[in-house]
Amino acid sequence: MYPVDAWRVHAALAHQLLDTWPVCPKDHQIVQSELEDWSLRAENNADKYLRLLIGRLRSAGVQQRVLDALDGVQDQLEHVDEYLRSMFEAALGLTRDCYQRWADWSVAGVDLKLGAVTNPVYPDLAGFGELGVVACVPPREEPGAPAIVKLTFIPGLLGPPSWASVPYLLCHELICHVNQAGPMSSEDPFGEGWMDLVALQLHNHWAGKIFPWAPALARSAGARLSDDVLRRWRGLPEPHMTTRAVRSRGREAARWVEDELKQLTRTNRRSVPSELIRLSLQLNRASPTLAGRIEFISKVNDRSNLRRQAGLLVQLRRWLEDTEKAADKVLSFT
Ligand SMILES: [Zn+2]
Repeated sequence: MYPVDAWRVHAALAHQLLDTWPVCPKDHQIVQSELEDWSLRAENNADKYLRLLIGRLRSAGVQQRVLDALDGVQDQLEHVDEYLRSMFEAALGLTRDCYQRWADWSVAGVDLKLGAVTNPVYPDLAGFGELGVVACVPPREEPGAPAIVKLTFIPGLLGPPSWASVPYLLCHELICHVNQAGPMSSEDPFGEGWMDLVALQLHNHWAGKIFPWAPALARSAGARLSDDVLRRWRGLPEPHMTTRAVRSRGREAARWVEDELKQLTRTNRRSVPSELIRLSLQLNRASPTLAGRIEFISKVNDRSNLRRQAGLLVQLRRWLEDTEKAADKVLSFT
C-alpha cells in the first residue's frame, strides 16, 4: 500500500467509527494494530486494501457495535475528501468572520492541501488512534499567492481521535497563522502558545459546525493534542524541547491575561467571544515582528516587575473601555 491510499482508507474507517470508538475502548488496540500494519499489506488498490482491512478486523473478534459499523466503511471512502473540504470551508468561514468583526482579515485566499508520510512526526508515545495527522502553513511561493493550509496524514496512527483532531488543527493554522501580521516562526511564543489557546477555545465553540458528526470527540481530541504539544519529558529530542518551551511560555501569558480580563469585567455579563479572544485577534494583527512578539510574552510573564505589571493592567482596562478597542497600546505596555 502507498501512504497516499492508505490514509484515505483509514480516514473512511475512522469516520465510520466516530460514534462507536468512545464506547468500545476494548477494541482500540485491535484497530490500532491493523492501522500500524498497513505497510505490510501487499495490496496496492484502495478498494481491495479496504476489503482486506475490514476482513481482518471482522476476524479479530471486535464487538458487535464495531462489526455493525464496519458495513458502512466502503461507502465512506468516496466521501473522505468531501468531509475534509467541508471542515476546511466551515473553519475558514468562521475564522474570517471572527477576524473581520473584531480585527481585520488580510488574506486574499486560502487553499487546502493534503499529503501523507509513513513515519510518525511527533516523538511522543501515541494513544490508540492518536497523532495521525499534523498541519502547517508552508511559506508562500510568491507574495499575493493564496495562503495554504497543509494537512499531512500518518496512516499508521490515523484512528478516530486523529480524524476528530483535524478541526482543531485547521483552527490552529487558520486562527494563529494564516492572518498573522508577523513572520511564521516555531520560536514565536505568541503565535504558537498564546494564539493556540485562543484557537482551542474558538474550536470548542465551533466544533458542532466544523465537525457535526461528533463534536464532543473533536473537543476532547483537540484538547489532548494541544496538551501533547506542550508536554516535555526527559530525553525529548530537539527541536521539540525548545518549541514546546516556547509554546508553554505563550500559553502561560495568555492564561494570566485571561484571568485579569475576567477580573476587570466581572460586573459585566460574560461576553461571547470572550474578551481574551477579541484582544488576541487584534494583537495577532498588530504585532508585525518576531522580536516584538517574544518581548511582549516575556514582559507579560515577568511577575517580578510590579510597576510593569500595573502598566499592563492599565492598558487592559483602557482597551476594555475604548470603543475602538485598538490593541497596539496593550502590545507596547510598559
Ligand atoms: Zn502553529
